[in-house]
Amino acid sequence: DKRSSQPARVAVDKLLGGLLAPGFDEESCVSRYRSSLYRRISPHKPSSYLALKLRKYEDLHKRCGPHTESYNRTLEELSSGHVNGTTDCSYVVWTPANGLGNRIISMASSFLYAFLTNRVLLVDLGTDMAGVFCEPFPNTSWLLPMDFPLSNQFYGLRSGNDHSYGHLLWKNNMNVSTVSQPPPFLYLYLSYNYDDYDKLFYKDQNQGFLQNVPWLILKSDQYFAPYLFLIPSFQQELGRLFPDTETVFHHLVRYLFHPSNQAWGLITRFYHSYLATADQRIGLQVRVFNRKASPIKVVLEQILGCIQKEKLLPQVDEEKQIATSSKNRTSRAITIASLYPEYYESIKNMYWMKPTVNGDVIGVYQPSHEEFQQFGNNIHNIKAWAEINILSLSDVLVTSSWSTFGYVAQGLGGLKPWILYVPTGDRTTDLPCPRAMSMEPCFHFPPNYYKNTGSRRRLATASLAPHIRQCEDATSGIKLV
Ligand code: GDP
Repeated sequence: DKRSSQPARVAVDKLLGGLLAPGFDEESCVSRYRSSLYRRISPHKPSSYLALKLRKYEDLHKRCGPHTESYNRTLEELSSGHVNGTTDCSYVVWTPANGLGNRIISMASSFLYAFLTNRVLLVDLGTDMAGVFCEPFPNTSWLLPMDFPLSNQFYGLRSGNDHSYGHLLWKNNMNVSTVSQPPPFLYLYLSYNYDDYDKLFYKDQNQGFLQNVPWLILKSDQYFAPYLFLIPSFQQELGRLFPDTETVFHHLVRYLFHPSNQAWGLITRFYHSYLATADQRIGLQVRVFNRKASPIKVVLEQILGCIQKEKLLPQVDEEKQIATSSKNRTSRAITIASLYPEYYESIKNMYWMKPTVNGDVIGVYQPSHEEFQQFGNNIHNIKAWAEINILSLSDVLVTSSWSTFGYVAQGLGGLKPWILYVPTGDRTTDLPCPRAMSMEPCFHFPPNYYKNTGSRRRLATASLAPHIRQCEDATSGIKLV
């Protein structure tokens, strides 16, 4: 698996098998047509039906996008308070919640929902995600205009809001067929702590009413795409779009999220400085949610156990000072992504102090250690996004349990990761990092998850469809396989 220092591996298909539209200005977003030169070539081609429907969506977005005549007319329905049906444009407005990984998986799900329901997706990236992504759709914008009338209400949006669909269902005894006038907008609250009424969104019989509501303001931090596969009225179309259910996020994330030139600079400089000449690239993401509960020493032991048990890197030879010389030693570069420096320090030191048993040369790198998750800081988000992308360039990827940051890296890279179980308490576990079943993210809190009862029963949902299983890392969650 020797690689040249040039990133191009073979003649690369820059449109990713028809996933991307041609004709974008290349300079304004260099990564769009160039990331395929850096990543492993994906064996997963999008269906031609998906490519066709994406081009149709792009036309719709251009026709209904911000400040078009149709957009302005649909906006008037918001101020008049009446749906008069004069436009054929309707929208999903995505609003942010939680960290960057959570935001990306929920944006991807929101796009899929908009796509299935002939709506246009507009996103409120605020200031802290400014300059992170390129525009995904040609000759238009997905950014919600700053003067959007409801913007100042987004941040307080939570369960039970008077304008939420859950509230409307509750007020009408779960039966909205008696509501004579559809409202011009509704909130869909789909974040992890949504209540039983918000969850009614996922019932097929409640989808029809939404067709007449031009503005849906959606807040979620979840990858809810798997549940769309459980809604009968979407199933046929989803089957045509994604004959291979394991590739839903893989295609969506590479279609929608292109690093801005600033982020692409961080990614490619790191790549050329540390990774380009390695024979093998290994990404290790260490996400520790609670530093007190997961002591450094125990997490480190778990990481080393994972490397050894799954044979991801060679062991060090404690007996020798110098490796037996060999001409063709393999060089491996391991990139560690973590908020903290200690895991990197220890692993780097381990491979510096002793040779490897087989003479392999191991380079250990960490792009940043930000110490804590920051909100409202766009440079922090650009670094996080760069690191997600750097991880996605790996040949072998280890992610951390429950981390959406890791989910995005695996989806972009088309990689089935080893999932490191980050231990809480003072003991490591027997299976430190089992291999994931698929490269799809986990939907942590689907509507009918079991409350934490301590039991390890299978989810009822998991038997509802052949391509849906309980997640490896979250017993409450489901994922596509
Ligand atoms: P999750 O919490 O692991 O599911 O992932 P999120 O991305 O939703 O939230 C974690 C946030 O913490 C990230 O968006 C970053 O802001 C920060 N963060 C966590 N781990 C890392 C890391 O390895 N590198 C960087 N640069 N930031 C990180």
